[in-house]
Formats: sequence, C-alpha cells, structure tokens
Amino acid sequence: MSFRRISPVLLFAGLLAGWLVALVFVAAQLDADADEQLTRIGGAQQLLTTMYDQESGVRGYLGSIQTPLLRPYTEGRDRFDDLLADELEETDDPELRAALLEQQAAALAWRRLAAAHVREMAVEDRPFRRSLRAREAKLDAFADANAEYQRALREDRSETAGAHVLRAIALMIGFSVLLGGAALLAMRRRAGAERRYAAAQAEFATAMQSAVDGAEADALLKRHLERQLDRVTVTVLRRDASGERLEAGTPPAPDTPLARALTDARPRDCLAIRRSSAQAQSDDDPLVSCAVCGASGPTACRPLLVGDRIIGSVLVEYADAGGRHQDERAIGDSLAQAAPILSGLRTLALAQSRAMTDALTGLPNRWALQDALKRMLAQAARSERPLALVLLDLDHFKQLNDTYGHDAGDTALAAVGDALLTGLRESDMAARSGGEEFAVLLPDTSLEGAVAVAEQLRAAIAAVDLPLPGASLTASFGVAVLPLHAVDADGLMRVADRALYAAKRAGRNRVEVAEAPGTRTQRALPAATS
Ligand code: GH3
Ligand code: MG
Ligand code: MG
Repeated sequence: MSFRRISPVLLFAGLLAGWLVALVFVAAQLDADADEQLTRIGGAQQLLTTMYDQESGVRGYLGSIQTPLLRPYTEGRDRFDDLLADELEETDDPELRAALLEQQAAALAWRRLAAAHVREMAVEDRPFRRSLRAREAKLDAFADANAEYQRALREDRSETAGAHVLRAIALMIGFSVLLGGAALLAMRRRAGAERRYAAAQAEFATAMQSAVDGAEADALLKRHLERQLDRVTVTVLRRDASGERLEAGTPPAPDTPLARALTDARPRDCLAIRRSSAQAQSDDDPLVSCAVCGASGPTACRPLLVGDRIIGSVLVEYADAGGRHQDERAIGDSLAQAAPILSGLRTLALAQSRAMTDALTGLPNRWALQDALKRMLAQAARSERPLALVLLDLDHFKQLNDTYGHDAGDTALAAVGDALLTGLRESDMAARSGGEEFAVLLPDTSLEGAVAVAEQLRAAIAAVDLPLPGASLTASFGVAVLPLHAVDADGLMRVADRALYAAKRAGRNRVEVAEAPGTRTQRALPAATS
C-alpha cells in the first residue's frame, strides 16, 4: 500500500491501536510491579513476625527454664537469617539495602542481649522484668527499622508506578507524532498526485479540443490513457457510419487475437457495448466471454457514451494479472471528456464525406475531385513525378435514357461507377465529375501508363452487362499528363477535355491523348472493335 492511499480513518484506527497497546503494556507492568511490591512488603512483615517469634521463645524459656520452650527462638533466628539473606539478595536499591542492613543490626543487637539473658538465666536467677525491658527496647529499635523499610518499599512502589505512567504518556505521544507525520506525508503525497492528475486531464482536454479529425482524437485518447495507467495497451473501437460494424479507431498490433477479432466484428460483439456498461475480464473462465477481447487476457472495457447513444468503446489490456480498481476513475473521467468530442468529429467527418460523395455511384463528386486534383498536383510538384488525368464521357447516353427510361440510365451510371473502381490502384481516384462524365486521377503515372489504364477502363465499360435488351454502353476518353501537357489544374482539365472531344469526333468508344503544348497534332489510338 502506498502512502497516498492511507485513509484518515485508517490512520486514526492506527493511532487508537497504538495508544491501546501502550496502555495495556503499562497496565501489565503496573500489575506485575504491584505483585512484586506486595511480596516484598509481605517479606518485611515476616521479618518482624519472626523477630516476635524469637522474643516469644526467649520469654517462654526465661519464665519456665524449660529448654524446649526455647525452640521458637532458635527456629525464628534461622528463619530470620534466611529471610534477610533473600531480601538482601533481591535488593539493588541503595536506600532499601540500607534499611535492610539497619534491621540486621537492630536484630543482631537484640539477639546479643537475648543470648546473654538466656546464658545468665542458666547460671543465676536474674530479675525477669529488667531483662524484658532491655530486650523490648532493642525490639522496638528493630520494629522502627522495619517500619522504615516498609515505608521505603511503599514509596518505591509509587515511584515506579509514576515512571510507568510517564513511559505510557511518552509512548502515546511518540505514537501520535509518528502517525501524525505519516498522515502529513500521506496528505502531501495525495495532494501532489491529485495535482498531477488534474494537470494531465486538463492537458488531455486541451489536446482533444484541438484535434482536427476522429483519427487524431482516437490516437490522443489512446496515448493519454496509456500514459495515465500502468503497463496497459489501449484500443479505441468505434461503430462505423452504418452502425453495423465495429472497427479499430487505433489499429491493434497485427496478428494478435484482438486484430483477428476486429477483422469482422459487429458492435454487439463487444460486451461493454451490448450491455452499455463497464466490463472487466480476468484470466478466469467467465460465464459470458467478450467476442472482441475474450482472448486478450485481463482487460477492462468501457462503452463510449454520448447521452444514451453508444459511439464505440475503449478496451484496456493489462500486461499483468487483474484489472485495477484505482484505474476506473482515470478511465471514466477521460472517456467522459473524450466521448462528445469524438462524436462531434465523427458526425462532422460523415457530413463532409456525404457532401463530397455522389449518391448515385458512391464515387467522390466534382468538389472532391477538385480537392484531390489540387492535393495530388502539389504532391506531384514536390516529388517531381507525373500526374495523369483521364476524362471520360458516356457515348449517346441521351439515347439510352430516351429508349429505356431515366431509371435505366441511373442503373447504367452506377454500373459504370463500379467498373471504374475495379482495376484502379489504392492511390488512384475515380470521380463522377458531371451527368454522364467521369474523371480518373492517376498519381505517379506516365503517359503510356495512363493510356493503358484508359484502355482497360474503356474495355471494362464496354463489357458492362446491362439488364436492358439490346442496350450497349461505351465511353470516349481523353488523357493528359502533367507536366507533359499542362502546368496547372485548369490547364490539365482543359487539354484532357479537348482530347475527349477529339475522341467523340473520331467516332467515340476510343482513347485520345491531349495535344503537346505548341503542336496541333493529336495522337489518335485505334478505335476499339467492340
Ligand atoms: P455524346 O455521345 O455526344 O456524349 O452523347 P450524349 O447523349 O451522351 O450527350 P448529351 O450531352 O447530349 O446527353 C447527356 C445525357 O445524359 C443527357 C442527360 O439526360 C443524361 N444524364 C445526365 N445526368 C444523368 C443522370 O443522373 N441520370 C440519367 N439517367 N441520365 C443523366
Ligand atoms: Mg456529356
Ligand atoms: Mg455523353
């Protein structure tokens, strides 16, 4: 657990637990000390009792001169010596030792006197009373010393108790300082992490707002999440314009299970989209597995929601086991920021593409053609490579319309659109430039190459099989190449159009090349036989 995740509740619980431990520890110490002190005081009292036992033995003997009655004296003496020796052995405190030695001296003084009295009694009958008072005086001296010893013991006990309480307080203060420091550190770290998080989110929001298209925004979202989360790979998935397909907004690594799953995925294949809620998948065997990310190991997937509309999802693949609970906030916040922007950019792109596409043939329209011509022209100039333009116009199309109807004409136009698309390179572009007129742009293509392509297209159109009895479809072509025939877009269009007009005049269903500048000659290609 890192410092920044320590919660105040946890810290407070730790503090209480620390205090409790200190209190229990001190209470146990106090208890043990109290037991020991009680034993010691008991020992002191026993010393006194033993002294009285000895005195009672001496008195019994002096009163009766019967030797057996001396036994409490002799036995008490031995017991006293043992007790005193034990006490001395256990006592380190100088004050207590002094009090014990004082009792030893007082007991010795009494003992000397008692021994003398016993001895004297054996030889002459001394007055009993006088000897009694003398011993009582010594006994009182012992009792005083013993009382002093007991007082010292009690005092020592309250002193050690006080020391224990002080230790407990010191322990509790130490604990508080330690945990207070930890709390302060944790709070500072949390505040620092919070600041960094807010700065990263703000940077992301600014970057997203300046994204020019959906692809850039998708890539930004991926990069932002991969920077925010530890050891993850992020893939942005989006519904295509038809809503029927789920495609990668950011391409997954080739030849991965995810890349394979996305070659033909529908939106409902993604569980997060189907359930419209965040999904987490671990290595375990789930009841329902996601068809898109099912084979990708531990993942977290969230739908991209704008209101209640799902525009796609974001898949987070973890390099190590298990999704991470703490990532949910970063993912949730980032997606909430990104979704409306992604949606806006996609709607814009769709509108733009619709405005640039011819509805009948699905080909780019004349505006898109003009844009592409400008772009390809600049590129050709930069790379000093040729750019070829092929213009074509369907032959006697009015007649086809008049004979078979306008709808049949539309069908024929759509068929021509399909025929144009087949056989062109990825970098080439076919457009519908007007009614029954089309244009094909061929970057990096020489005149010979362009004539060959035009011939292929002518053959392809002538081969279009219309479902109209007796109908045939042909087109005439004009070919011009930059920089051979012109130096700008208008010039290129003009000379290609002239070549097309020449093809019409030469009998239609043929390809004509533009005039080279400064010549009036046209290079007519042989008319097709079909
Ligand atoms: P030419 O060989 O000289 O080009 O003869 P043409 O009949 O093709 O030329 P013209 O310019 O006289 O006629 C073009 C026809 O194309 C007239 C028009 O009705 C038809 N056309 C233009 N746009 C469409 C369209 O979107 N749908 C249909 N069905 N016909 C169209
Ligand atoms: Mg025409
Ligand atoms: Mg025509």
